Order: sequence, then structure tokens, then C-alpha cells
Amino acid sequence: MDEVGVVGLGVMGAAICWRLGAGGQAVVGYERLMPGHQFGSSQGVTRIIRQAYYEHPDYVPLIRRSWGRWQELERVSGRSLLTQTGGLMIGRPDGELIAGTLTSVQRHELRHQELSAQEIEERFPQFRLPTDVVGIYEHQAGVLACETSVTTLVQAARHTSHPLTLVHDQVLRLEAASDHVRVHTAQGSRDFEQVVVAAGGWASELLPDLGLPLAVERQVQHWFAPPDPSLFQPERLPIWMHESDDDQIFYGIPAVDGKWAKAARHHHGVTTTMNELDRAVSDQDRQVVVGATSTFLPALGSSIAASSVSCYTNTPDRNFLIGRLKALPQVVLAAGFSGHGFKFAPVIGDLVEAIIRQDAPPPPILSTIRFGL
Ligand SMILES: Cc1cc2nc3c(=O)[nH]c(=O)nc-3n(C[C@H](O)[C@H](O)[C@H](O)COP(=O)(O)OP(=O)(O)OC[C@H]3O[C@@H](n4cnc5c(N)ncnc54)[C@H](O)[C@@H]3O)c2cc1C
Repeated sequence: MDEVGVVGLGVMGAAICWRLGAGGQAVVGYERLMPGHQFGSSQGVTRIIRQAYYEHPDYVPLIRRSWGRWQELERVSGRSLLTQTGGLMIGRPDGELIAGTLTSVQRHELRHQELSAQEIEERFPQFRLPTDVVGIYEHQAGVLACETSVTTLVQAARHTSHPLTLVHDQVLRLEAASDHVRVHTAQGSRDFEQVVVAAGGWASELLPDLGLPLAVERQVQHWFAPPDPSLFQPERLPIWMHESDDDQIFYGIPAVDGKWAKAARHHHGVTTTMNELDRAVSDQDRQVVVGATSTFLPALGSSIAASSVSCYTNTPDRNFLIGRLKALPQVVLAAGFSGHGFKFAPVIGDLVEAIIRQDAPPPPILSTIRFGL
């Protein structure tokens, strides 16, 4: 009974299992699909990691820790997961992206350069920009492997001093008593003193009575075959984000496979549920991104080689939702990663390990307490 149960082994559950096991905690992880699958939020080959954090400067110390943990994972697994490319944020000086990025780099003294539109074009001729936009270039940013990170985290969790027990099954429901939580699957049930719910967009289904403030948002990623692929190699193009006049943010990842460069719109997707998520890619999905990138990144071209649909799980303030639940004190929630959680996964593992083993609360900006949960 002193094992901890973890429900869901997307990137968060997998990282939580790794950090719990590394801390000497026995863990049973439940995943209904194969880790590294395509149906949750941890899919799509690549993810951005950056420290200059326009969303809120309080995330910067967490990313610094996380960067070290990703490198540690590379060492213990012998796999390459993180490619440092630098990062470029582009927009008007008073927009959310540039103003927020500047606040975070200044407050945390991150190594960066402020660039005019002309300087951006000289350095990165892939872009065509109006003179009133500016850029912030950050050195310590790059690309994380996505599905490979999930499977590597699971493997690392299986090689700790307390190896993960992996159960390939769907958790049907959780039943809480005063001193334990019973996890029910089709194969039977098992009792735990504590359970972590890291079920992504499915978290609300698993905890239906709590009214979790989570909304599933459809998102589409596209892989472009640029006319001149050499311009999109990681040595020549950093990860980038661009805020347009209508406040829409687009982002992109260089061609880490040598061929295809990723581009997508951040947010502005339809609110849906995991059961109703429309996984078909439409011409309109493609046009949204081609229409925008053709204005500021014409070298990308309009030839889309592949696209895929997945989802964000958003909280109302788009900060994560982590903590022990008042209504179910033996349950710790790690959800609501609002489209920017991947880079933090190992440090989310550390935060959850601290809650489970020492009852240490997460940083207030991420805590379930802010929604009275
Ligand atoms: C298109 C897109 C682009 C993104 N880009 C970035 C980026 O560049 N940088 C960044 O940092 N973040 C990014 N993110 C965000 C990041 O990918 C997510 O925050 C992260 O993947 C969330 O992981 P998760 O483990 O919470 O959810 P998921 O990956 O969805 O995992 C949940 C898991 O729980 C399992 N599960 C659910 N219910 C049950 C059950 N009842 N029983 C058993 N198993 C269950 C599911 O099968 C699934 O494997 C992006 C997200 C998307 C969708």
C-alpha cells in the first residue's frame, strides 16, 4: 500500500514516475494506450523549450531547473533529446509577446539581444518584416524531441532504484476512502495511499464531481516542405514566435529532420472535449497558417507535407493546475498545462514528488488553491 499510483503516462505522468522512482518511491503507472502515442497532447515530433518567458517571469526559475533535468535524462538514457537552436520572439514592442519576454529576460538577467526589424532580416533572411516590429533573440532555447522524450522518461522510470510498474489499462474510476484511494480498471482494483492524476484532457472525465476549471482546445500543427530547406536547418534558424497585429501568435520549429519545418498557430482553436475532438485537417486549418506565414516568413512557402490535430488543456488563466485536492486529499492533480507545459515536464515531476513525499506546496502561480480546489 505504500506505492503511489499515477494515472496517465503522457509526458507529465512519465516524468512524475521518473522523479518519484529516482526519489526512492515505489510507483504503479496506468496508461490505457502505448506511451508515446498520438492521441493526447504529447505528440507531434518536436516541442519548443525557451527560458525567455512572456507568459510570466515566475516560470523562468522552473525552466532553468528543467533544462538541467532534460540534460540529466540525456545522460542516464544515452539519448539525444534537446537541440539548442536559440530562440527569436518577434512583434510590436507593446504587444504581449515582446513586452512579456523583455520583462522576463530583464528580471532574470537572461542572455539575450534586442534586434530591430532590419537586424532580424540581416541575420535571418527567411523573414520579411515591417519596420515597426522588433525582436528578442535568446541564446538558451531550442527543440525537445516529443514522443521520444515520453518513451525515454518511461524507460528511465523503469531503471530507478524503485522501478516503475507499468499497467496497460484504462482507469475507469477512482474511489476515495479516508486513508486510501481505490483505482478501478477493467482488470480489477488496487488501493493506494496516494494517487496522482496526470490524465491530460481526460482529467475532468476521471474526476467528474469536482468541476475542474479545464477546457480542451483543438490545435493543428503543420510541417512545411520549404522551397530551400537549407534556410530552415537548426544551424540557420532558431525556434521562433511571431505576434501579429491582431494579437495572434504563430510559432515555428526548424527542420530538425533536415527536411520539414513546423509552423502553427498558438491558441484560437475551437473548444471541444476529448471525445468530440475533430481530428480531420481542413483546408481552412492550412490556410490560417499559410496566410499568416506568407506575410512575415515567405521563405517557408505554402507546400504543407503533413499536418496533425491534437489539443491543449487550458485553465482560465493559462497557468498550470498542480496540487493536492481539498475534496480528495489523497489525490494530487497535475493538469491544465495550457499549451506550454512540455518543456517543464521533469520539473513538474520534482514538484509532484515534493507534494507526495513532503507535502511541499507548488509555486502559488501553479497551485490548485487559486481555484479553491
Ligand atoms: C500542438 C501542441 C503544441 C505544443 N507545443 C508546445 C511547445 O512547443 N512547448 C511546450 O513546452 N509545450 C507545448 N505544448 C504543450 C505540451 O505538449 C503539453 O502541455 C503536454 O504534452 C501535456 O502532457 P500531459 O501528460 O498532461 O497530457 P497527455 O500527453 O495528453 O497525457 C495524458 C495521458 O493520460 C492517459 N490517460 C487519460 N485518461 C486515462 C485513464 N482513465 N486511464 C489511463 N490512462 C489515461 C492518456 O492516454 C495520455 O497518455 C504543446 C501542446 C500541443 C497540443
